[in-house]
Amino acid sequence: MSRLLDGKKIAAAIRADVTARTESLTAQGITPTLAIALPTDDESAAWYVRSLQRAADKVGIRCLVEKPAATEIAASLDTLSGTADVHGVMCQTPLPPGLTLAEVGAHIDVAKDVDGANPESLGRLAAGVADTFAPATAAAVLEILHAEQVPLSGRHAVVVGRSTVVGKPAALLLLAENATVTVCHSRTADLPAVTRGADILVAAVGRPKMLGAEYVSPGTIVIDVGTNPTEDGGLVGDVDADAVADTVEAITPVPGGVGPVTTALLLRNVVVAAERAATR
Ligand code: NAP
Repeated sequence: MSRLLDGKKIAAAIRADVTARTESLTAQGITPTLAIALPTDDESAAWYVRSLQRAADKVGIRCLVEKPAATEIAASLDTLSGTADVHGVMCQTPLPPGLTLAEVGAHIDVAKDVDGANPESLGRLAAGVADTFAPATAAAVLEILHAEQVPLSGRHAVVVGRSTVVGKPAALLLLAENATVTVCHSRTADLPAVTRGADILVAAVGRPKMLGAEYVSPGTIVIDVGTNPTEDGGLVGDVDADAVADTVEAITPVPGGVGPVTTALLLRNVVVAAERAATR
């Protein structure tokens, strides 16, 4: 039976660190502040933003939510980026039709781009520029691997998915750790043959339980980024956890794996941005 990589435990340790650093900033008269633009009435987006507000509140981070109209998103992000006492800025998806995250993300100052939405942040990540914020979900993949002391250098990491928010930045972060990285997508030929060669398998596809027993090998460490809603209101990953349980060495559960670490890292990025602003 494979080992479960407990995202909740890793997230709790991050939150404890964030709380201590927030207290230190607050003692200096600085309240770390995250501003979220929420340009949608989508119920799951609203739920996620409420959950972020609650999580921020618990660690002493102020969280402001704006609801700009489609035509006001860019101006809203420009204004928040230019507001001195806002340290982190995010734009929640889904976006109104016709807009891309790259377009709106370009209006978030990279110093405040705590979820790595500005294409410039992705470019800086690719170029190895220090102190760049990666998208929190991609960073969560690496955080879990580090917390579990999974060796990366020289090992074969296979990332399934090439989105700019998860797959690509996760691949760049793994490459920076000297893993040998293969990035797969919907046109990859014989995907199971590729993923069976993985020491570390990162699934970021968005297809419930797509990766079954034939996609894994003994000893593989699986990070399942997928969060696919089920009919009964639950969540399942992109990996069929039951089918691979007897083969892989370890796997992140869904829920309770990448998700809580992502939220904790977003909050840590806000504190990091506030600390940097304080010393500038
Ligand atoms: P996305 O933008 O839809 O990208 C999906 C990727 O999967 C694309 O690159 C696509 O390939 C690839 N793909 C689709 N079908 C495939 C197939 N049959 N075989 C191989 N590759 C295939 O999704 P995303 O935003 O990256 O999100 C991926 C998953 O992560 C979703 O379940 C999402 O809910 C979850 N997620 C979780 C968190 C968290 O905090 N836990 C945060 C963000 C996202 P093409 O490029 O060729 O189309």
